[in-house]
Amino acid sequence: MEEEKLNIAIFSIHSCPVGELGTKDTGGMNVYIRELASELGNREHRVDIYTRIHDPNDPLVIHLNENVRVVHLKAGKNGYMHKLAIYPYLEDFTGALEDFIAREGLRYDLVHSHYWLSGQAGRWAQARWDVPHMLMFHTLGAVKNSTGVGEQEPLLRIATEKQLIADCHCIIAATQREKTEMMRYYGADPEKIAVVPCGVNLDRFRPVKKAYARKQLGFDYNERIVLYVGRFSPLKGIDRLLKAMTHLRQQKRLRLIIIGGDGQTAPDSIELQRLSSELGIKHMIRFAGRIEQDDLPPYYSASDLLVVPSYHESFGLVALESLACGTPVIATEVGAMDSIICEGQTGFIVADPKPPALAKAIGNFISKQHANMESVHTIRESVRKFSWSYVADAMIDEYWRMLNYYDVSNLRNASSKAALL
Ligand code: UDP
Repeated sequence: MEEEKLNIAIFSIHSCPVGELGTKDTGGMNVYIRELASELGNREHRVDIYTRIHDPNDPLVIHLNENVRVVHLKAGKNGYMHKLAIYPYLEDFTGALEDFIAREGLRYDLVHSHYWLSGQAGRWAQARWDVPHMLMFHTLGAVKNSTGVGEQEPLLRIATEKQLIADCHCIIAATQREKTEMMRYYGADPEKIAVVPCGVNLDRFRPVKKAYARKQLGFDYNERIVLYVGRFSPLKGIDRLLKAMTHLRQQKRLRLIIIGGDGQTAPDSIELQRLSSELGIKHMIRFAGRIEQDDLPPYYSASDLLVVPSYHESFGLVALESLACGTPVIATEVGAMDSIICEGQTGFIVADPKPPALAKAIGNFISKQHANMESVHTIRESVRKFSWSYVADAMIDEYWRMLNYYDVSNLRNASSKAALL
């Protein structure tokens, strides 16, 4: 029997799925939403992704494919706003949403919201449209605060997350670790949480011959290249990667290439450049700026190693992308690293994340010239199961599970109300 097609509303209010990856609030979550929605659209489910107007130059509606649209709605001023400043405008957002769906005569089977701010709008839609609500947090305030790194998240966020965890119908965690954190910090009901890993676009992230990639990028073939890719948030631990480099000064021709950030003049960039000067390692570091995803594979392939030095990750897509390009990964014990890195074969997980231990792991890897690592082909094959197609299939199963449960509990509520009459 042919599967019924769903109408799905995705909320991603604070960050746009077509935004510039690698900048402040735009990273893995945006990739996730774009890739998942595209796969759902390929299976002929209809998806509208609602976000606020981040860039007044963007068209109000953008088609990602025949069945998937990104819809920009007004919430606060048009253009960049700090995440927390959006909270008071959530009612504007739901008001604009209501006008839009009334104008277009739309109806949805379910809401899938991302991050706590969208979760608030999701909670509104769940009551207003009488539909089940699935939620993904991507990061949780209490977990972020527990690292002691960066700005502390306000109580408002943590209290809202707690309420959302209690009210929504299903939560998707990207790892078992994230599920455990939700139970530990928020008392979440484990029955409500399904674990679905993230994916990688295996067509986009393919190995390129190292010599060719280096020539294309103008990199020296004799250098040992360590790569960092990601946003410049304090949680990413770029500071401790820079500190680790100070222990590797004696390594000949070692270079760290840092990709991402909001441009040379952004405060986070200035701070990292200042730190590398202060540590006396400026000559070993190259800040390459933000790179479009389509242009990233040669960087992964040209590198000997990707390092993920994070204090916390909810998953860590860049590790999957690097492995899909056949490049090993050294990572701290965060996110999905333990399920995507085959220890000693496709990379290493560093139990002690402090700079000397991180440096030791990088130094060992570089000096042994990854003698025990698998071939580029085998490294890529090790992550083949993490396709977005797999993620979409698993998500559709979760959508149906949630819808069926919702119908059954609605019936149960209706019959108990009838029994009371
Ligand atoms: N990214 C990019 N260009 C950059 C920096 C990052 O396209 O200059 C992408 C990268 O390919 C990855 C995402 O941003 O898909 C970062 O996701 P990850 O899960 O590693 O980190 P998050 O942003 O979720 O913390």
